[in-house]
Amino acid sequence: MSRFRCLDLPPSLVVDQVTPSDNTVQIEASLRDRSAVCPDCHIRTQRIHSLYRRTLSDLPWQGRRVTLRVSSFRLYCNTAGCRRRTFVIPLSDMTVPYGRHTMRLTDLHHYVAHALGGSAGERMAERLRCPVSADTLIRRLLSRMSGKPSARSPRVLGVDDWAWRRGHHYGTILVDLEKNDVVNLLPDRQADTLAAWLVQNPGIEIIARDRAGAYADACYRGAPSAVQVTDRWHLLRNLSDAFVAVVDRYARTATKISQKLCQSVSTDTGMRAQPSCLQKAQAPTRNASQAAQSRRETRFNEALALKAEGHGLQAIADMIGVERKTLRRWFRLGHAPTWKRTTTKPGILAPYTDYLDRRWHEGCHTAATLWRELVSQGFTGKYGIVWKWLTIRQATSPQQRSRRHAVPPLGRKLARLLLTDPGTLADQQTLFVRELLAAEPQLEKTTSWVRKMQNLLCRKSEDNLRLLLKAGRDTLLSRLVPALERDAAAIQASLVTSWTTSPVEGQISRLKMIKRTMFGRAGFELLRARVLPIS
Ligand SMILES: [Zn+2]
Repeated sequence: MSRFRCLDLPPSLVVDQVTPSDNTVQIEASLRDRSAVCPDCHIRTQRIHSLYRRTLSDLPWQGRRVTLRVSSFRLYCNTAGCRRRTFVIPLSDMTVPYGRHTMRLTDLHHYVAHALGGSAGERMAERLRCPVSADTLIRRLLSRMSGKPSARSPRVLGVDDWAWRRGHHYGTILVDLEKNDVVNLLPDRQADTLAAWLVQNPGIEIIARDRAGAYADACYRGAPSAVQVTDRWHLLRNLSDAFVAVVDRYARTATKISQKLCQSVSTDTGMRAQPSCLQKAQAPTRNASQAAQSRRETRFNEALALKAEGHGLQAIADMIGVERKTLRRWFRLGHAPTWKRTTTKPGILAPYTDYLDRRWHEGCHTAATLWRELVSQGFTGKYGIVWKWLTIRQATSPQQRSRRHAVPPLGRKLARLLLTDPGTLADQQTLFVRELLAAEPQLEKTTSWVRKMQNLLCRKSEDNLRLLLKAGRDTLLSRLVPALERDAAAIQASLVTSWTTSPVEGQISRLKMIKRTMFGRAGFELLRARVLPIS
């Protein structure tokens, strides 16, 4: 027995023999105690009926699959009146009745199934030398989940919805915000479902949720004593969407003002309007590139001076801090590298560019026509060459530039421009915003209100929420205000606590990843089993 002391088996077993082969290890064991208690009459007996062998798969050992063959016995029950004639000695410290895997192997399979799911888990188990089918893995996961007692109610709960199929079917995810663990998944986002769950799980003190009316209603019904906190990100998102819808109504005014400003820029400066008239300048990149070039040239001049003093190539390279090969290349070129694209040699279109330019100015902007004209003059190139020339010509023409420039910022871009701190805008943008707001007083009022709401929600300004909401009734977003007023207590709570649903969003990303790795074939229970933390 001492030979097998290193094997970790229950004390009820005696190891008889261990037979290793290339891929497997077979352990023969027998029971130390040959008596057992009858499961019906609970009286001990040791009268042997027959030999009985159990074969169990166990944890792998040094990359080999391990099989445990246990010699057990079938016993007679001698008790008069007991309806059971025979029974087998159970291996209750190793496996379950009729089990083919030891309990510790079942645990390992459970972890694999939780991490990888069915098919991927099957492949991993094969590599781990404890093979099991995908179906068994899924069954293990679900059976553990169904018997799992519900976890203790969290103190701070985060609630949000997740899309089973976007736009069609949604569920609810509940997260313990203190532990950042998923507490449960609910199959829908109805108020009744959440309210029922909250009633079954009392003791929640704070609930962070999005602005959805159903969740607010469920919280009032299911956990009336809990403090509700509206998530500020969702609030800002709703506010922003509503504001974009308002701003869209002023697209025509914005376009007119934009065109007017561009014309004034062209006439004031006597130059072509630049495409970036309402955008920030691209200067920093260019400046950085010029600075880098100037550094390279300085080093090249230093190298030349050192060479003139009679220093060797390696010595110069060490002194100015470049590779010797690089330095040699510089000397061979006769100047520092410019990183500019080398000019390509003139193509077969070169003799015809004057003609093409003339035709362009005459108003012929069709590649096919131009190509046919060139062919009649002896051009041997393909249509694509002319088409490419025309595309570049169109993109660089002044008309095209001014046309592109005249497109004003609209929709979300315009909304962002209006809400940006004026101090950080370029001059043209400031002028545009000022003129637009001066032309549309209602838009000006609404923009000012949205800015104040943003300041309150993002920077927790000193504004009074209720007064601000009251002021909102006179703006173009007045339809949004009643819902905000109903939720005022939760919004106010979001300004004084740090709880948000951001961790819930993180868990939703994880849920989506799990859902997609199962190719959309998982049912709700399986998804729930994989999303909930393993116990
Ligand atoms: Zn019995």
